[in-house]
Amino acid sequence: MSVGQKDEAKAAAVTMKAYRFAGSPTPEQAHLLSQFAGSCRFMWNRMLADINASYEAGEKYSCPTPAKYKDVPGLEWLKNMDSLGLANVQLHLDAAFKRFFKSCAGGPFAGHPSFKKKHESTDSYTTNLANKKHPNIFLDGCLLKLPKIKEPIRLRLHRQVEPGGLLKSVTVTHEATGKWYFSLLFEYPKQESTAVPAKNKEQLRHIGLDMSLPKLYVDSNGNVADFYKPYRKVEAKIAREQRKLSHMVKGSNNYNKQKQRIAKLHAKAKRQRNDMLHKLSFRLTEQYDVISIEDLDMAAIKQSLHFGKSASDNGWGNFTRMLAYKAVWKGKHIVKVDKWFPSSKTCCKCGHIHKELTLSDRLYCCPNCGNLMDRDHQAAINIDKEGFRLFCEELPSGCGDSPRAELSAHPQPSAA
Ligand SMILES: [Zn+2]
Repeated sequence: MSVGQKDEAKAAAVTMKAYRFAGSPTPEQAHLLSQFAGSCRFMWNRMLADINASYEAGEKYSCPTPAKYKDVPGLEWLKNMDSLGLANVQLHLDAAFKRFFKSCAGGPFAGHPSFKKKHESTDSYTTNLANKKHPNIFLDGCLLKLPKIKEPIRLRLHRQVEPGGLLKSVTVTHEATGKWYFSLLFEYPKQESTAVPAKNKEQLRHIGLDMSLPKLYVDSNGNVADFYKPYRKVEAKIAREQRKLSHMVKGSNNYNKQKQRIAKLHAKAKRQRNDMLHKLSFRLTEQYDVISIEDLDMAAIKQSLHFGKSASDNGWGNFTRMLAYKAVWKGKHIVKVDKWFPSSKTCCKCGHIHKELTLSDRLYCCPNCGNLMDRDHQAAINIDKEGFRLFCEELPSGCGDSPRAELSAHPQPSAA
């Protein structure tokens, strides 16, 4: 979802909640959904090609609108597609380019937008609410109404949707396993948080987390969150099936069947991982009032050679997002500690900064006071201390009710 200025201003008064459900469209519905997703992929590639061409011609960047294409001879079929889906393509592409330009100007890393290939990228599109009074999308029981699809689509509601929300957008995804998923984003009026009553500093429960690879994190109590065990089983299986695939004739029936089998295993691994992340973030936001984490630039970490695979596998980015929104629901606080804060180099006992510590030193041995500790545990303690110090610094009269230090995917709107 792209958040415009208006949304940011409104964001203070509402909370968003997302649900993801599997659905079972009829063959006709599935055909339409595939067409809509395909038209969005087409639109993305076409706009991207035109932007690239205008760049080559030395013109200034501007993102074309879908309307521009609907009357082009041969493209009239676009008129039969979900126009909101196409409009979202423009928003997403424009946002991707703006991130890329920012990255070129020294901001967080973002690559140049790339073309979407039919069998390599997941088929998906996003549509949204156009009219509050006569909603074009809505959920009625387990039936989901989408634009340009006559009959509502049946969803499998494995959990209850909190009543009182307004359905703002739906992202339809066709996984490689052949299953259809629907991500529903609801808007709720923000409720006064009652979860953190006026507590004074001493009563607040706080914890620090240090991202650690290949595990997920080590907390300031020395506990390790390692969700690798169940995942590793599936991973080994994926590797085995992948080897089998390499012996098959490309394009043959067996080959395609095997590919499907592997896609299913990948989907299973992803579900297991997300399930674990949800459980961990749920528990942490239940148990603690203030959770401090390092402000890491995940895109930059993924770029670095050493951590490439494990950093994207371990889902730290997903995890911090889950922590952030769960904290907002429960009136808890996430504090991001500056990434330049020397969390792993500072001795938590005496404060000495051990400059010679390298990434390969798994143990921290303080040359000043002799404190010997696991490197990540030590870092987590420092993150907790620093985060809680920052939190208390901004506490008005000893109670915590303004989540001003909360983690946000979007920059705060400026006063101007
Ligand atoms: Zn020391």
